[in-house]
Amino acid sequence: TFERRPLIAGNWKMNLNHLEAIALTQKVAISLTEEQLALVEVAVIPPFTDLRSVQTLVDGDKLHLVYGAQDLSPHDSGAYTGDISGSMLAKLGCTYVVIGHSERREYHHEDDTVVNAKVKAAYKHGLTPILCIGERLDVREAAGHVPHCTAQLDAALAKISAEQVASIVIAYEPVWAIGTGKVATPEDAQEVCAAIRTRLAEKYSPEIANGIRILYGGSVKAKNVAAIMAQPDVDGALVGGASTDADEFATIARFP
Ligand code: PEP
Repeated sequence: TFERRPLIAGNWKMNLNHLEAIALTQKVAISLTEEQLALVEVAVIPPFTDLRSVQTLVDGDKLHLVYGAQDLSPHDSGAYTGDISGSMLAKLGCTYVVIGHSERREYHHEDDTVVNAKVKAAYKHGLTPILCIGERLDVREAAGHVPHCTAQLDAALAKISAEQVASIVIAYEPVWAIGTGKVATPEDAQEVCAAIRTRLAEKYSPEIANGIRILYGGSVKAKNVAAIMAQPDVDGALVGGASTDADEFATIARFP
C-alpha cells in the first residue's frame, strides 16, 4: 500500500493516428487487471482530436482508466482561434489537464503568468491540473534546480486556495531528461520531489502537502520505473515516449 495512490499518466504528445489512439487505449485497458487499476491510477493524455473517442471507449466499456488533455486555454470562450477551453474538456469527461509542460513553455513561450492563469482555468471548470515544473540543464549544472523548481511552483500557484490545491498533481520533469533517454537518478528525483512537498507544506499545510501526488517525468521506462517509484516522495510518473507503446506503458503501470 502507498501513502498516496500512485498515478501513471501517459502523455502521447502529438503522436498516433486516430485508429492507433483507439487501439492503444483498448490495449492498455485490457492489459491491466481491475486489482492493478485499483492500486494504481492510470491516465491517458491523447491529443485533443482523440478525446471524444477515448471518452466513448471509457464510458461505453466502463474502462477503469481516466484521461485528460495536454493543454487548455486560460480563457472560457471567445475569439481565441485554435484554442480549447476548460469547459470543452470538462464536457469530454477529462479528469486531468497537463499545464506548463516544458514543450509548451519552450515552443509556445508560456511563462509563469500564463501557467498560473491556466491552473485557475482548470479549477474553474472542474479539471485537475497536472502542473509540470523542472529545470533546464544549465540550471542543474549550476546546482540551482531546487530554488528554480520551488519558484516555478510558487508562480504557478499564485492565488490558488488550499481547497483547490489539495487535488493538484505536480510533475517534476527535468527538461534535460525529457525525450533524451537521460533519466534522473532516483535520488535526483527524490531531492526535488521532497523539496516541492516541503514548499507545499510551508505554503498550505503539512496535511495538504502529504495528500498531494508528485510525479517524476523524464525518460521513464519499464526498466527504470521501480527504482524511481521506490522513493518516498515520488507518487507516480508522467510518461512521454514510452506511453505510446501499450505493452511498455502497461508494464510501467504494473510497477508495484
Ligand atoms: C513528458 O513529455 O512529459 C516526458 C516525460 O517525456 P519522455 O518520457 O519521453 O521523456
